[in-house]
Amino acid sequence: MRQERPLGTAFVNGLKCKCPACGEGKIFKGYIKVRHSCDHCGLELHHQRADDAPPYFTMLIVLHFVVSGILTVEQLYSPANWVQLVIWMPVATLMSFLLLPPIKGALIGIQWAKEMHGFNPEKDGYTAQQID
Ligand SMILES: [Zn+2]
Repeated sequence: MRQERPLGTAFVNGLKCKCPACGEGKIFKGYIKVRHSCDHCGLELHHQRADDAPPYFTMLIVLHFVVSGILTVEQLYSPANWVQLVIWMPVATLMSFLLLPPIKGALIGIQWAKEMHGFNPEKDGYTAQQID
């Protein structure tokens, strides 16, 4: 019987942009381009299908933070609109760039732990070496 893959560990490894299986190898080459396989343990990462989920969750988090920030600043100081724009546009941009890779990594970790898409060794197309 196959060993169950630890979801929490895979999620945290993904948040660190590390391989969900070994936690050592990098999963991205460049900014968010996923490597074909882990350079440490050889796990094939090209099976991932994060697709539009990483930008969706990034926008969900960033916009909740930015909108609550805009409303709070408006309630406390009522600044001119251009002041709000100067404050929150860079914050939203910076947060989006910083959050996108770890969120994408975490989603890949979840896909690996839950054996989604090509990460299931019992389905055709799986060619990665055994993780156990
Ligand atoms: Zn690895």
